[in-house]
Amino acid sequence: MSDSNHRLVYSTDPAMNRKCPRCKELEAACRCAPEVDVKKVRFTAVLRIEKKGRGGKTVTVVDKLPKQEAFLKELCTKLKKRCGSGGTYLMDGPDGVVEIQGDKRELVRACLAAEGIPSKG
Ligand SMILES: [Zn+2]
Repeated sequence: MSDSNHRLVYSTDPAMNRKCPRCKELEAACRCAPEVDVKKVRFTAVLRIEKKGRGGKTVTVVDKLPKQEAFLKELCTKLKKRCGSGGTYLMDGPDGVVEIQGDKRELVRACLAAEGIPSKG
């Protein structure tokens, strides 16, 4: 895992026009707290199964993750690939969340372990 994966790069935009990925304001106007360095933060992912939407579709929810978009995006991509399933990440709650479609707890747990991320649930 290289450091470049943790940075959002807008190579076509002049630096002046860079926007904060969280509040969508120009960086000069952004008042968000600095992003946490996920390598320095200790956390335990919490897995649970939820039913979503009208059809009651099952999703595996990975909760209590650092609220860091680059990290969540990368983890979500890895989990989707590993589980062969769709998924998304959310940052609208107190913690970062990744949702993977279907009951994929075993695969998600194995993938998190491979990433060095402890999990429970
Ligand atoms: Zn911001």
